[in-house]
Amino acid sequence: MKQLIIVADMEGASGIFHSNGQACWHEEMYPQNPLWRSYGRACITSDVLAVCRAARDAGIDDILMYDMHFAGCRESNIQLEKLPDGVRLFDLPDRSILWSRIRGQAAWEPYGLVTVGQHARNGEPNAYFPHTIHTPPIAAFFVNGIHIAEIGQSVLCFSGVPYIANIGCAASHREALELSSNVSCITVKDRARNWQPTPEETYPIIYAGVRDALADYDSKTAYPPADRYVCRLELTEDHVFDPPDNFPWKGTFEDRAAVWEAHDAETALSLFWRVHDYIQSRD
Ligand SMILES: [Zn+2]
Repeated sequence: MKQLIIVADMEGASGIFHSNGQACWHEEMYPQNPLWRSYGRACITSDVLAVCRAARDAGIDDILMYDMHFAGCRESNIQLEKLPDGVRLFDLPDRSILWSRIRGQAAWEPYGLVTVGQHARNGEPNAYFPHTIHTPPIAAFFVNGIHIAEIGQSVLCFSGVPYIANIGCAASHREALELSSNVSCITVKDRARNWQPTPEETYPIIYAGVRDALADYDSKTAYPPADRYVCRLELTEDHVFDPPDNFPWKGTFEDRAAVWEAHDAETALSLFWRVHDYIQSRD
């Protein structure tokens, strides 16, 4: 049984640019915004569908998916009723980012990982909606020296699992390539070239790209599991840490940075949210 893990975000979906960026604004947070339901959901659904069909046609029988955009909102961004039968979702309360639970629900050795709908990290040039988890307050998040955002958290959670493809904004590929240099990079929009195709135009590009990536499976590599994960969370200028006197992990706080370390990726990523609790606005 081959199990493919798909992690989807939305700012890097086909058809969503600065002119129509409200397509990413989830209705549960922005009830006055109609564009998420009327347009945005179809964009990310088209991209995910291309990945699922390519995987199925390549003989992958089990697809397990996490829709992480606006985690905490109940309704999926992806129109689940349009996906092929048998695509399964991780069981998470309101799609919360619970990496240990996500890793625990997957196979011991998944066949591969695909990231789709992905945007670039905060600070990347020529990007659509670059940010790191949520910017502000987060300026950057480093793990063992690599600035990781949504792509990196997904890849780290699945350390040791072959990283097949990253699909999204052209500027998102730099992060993916730093994590695994053989990952296939499939571009659906490119701000440097002002290339803004429709989802209908990118669907065959994604399908063909994923088929090619899976055909080249033997060349794919994983982000290697490490013995030690050193993490550093840096804040934008308008935020500071207000740390407690005591906390039950190895780490230190500065005014606008926190450092911690863990011996496995899931703990390192879980501590991200513990440290995150101590962010305050600078006033
Ligand atoms: Zn997102």
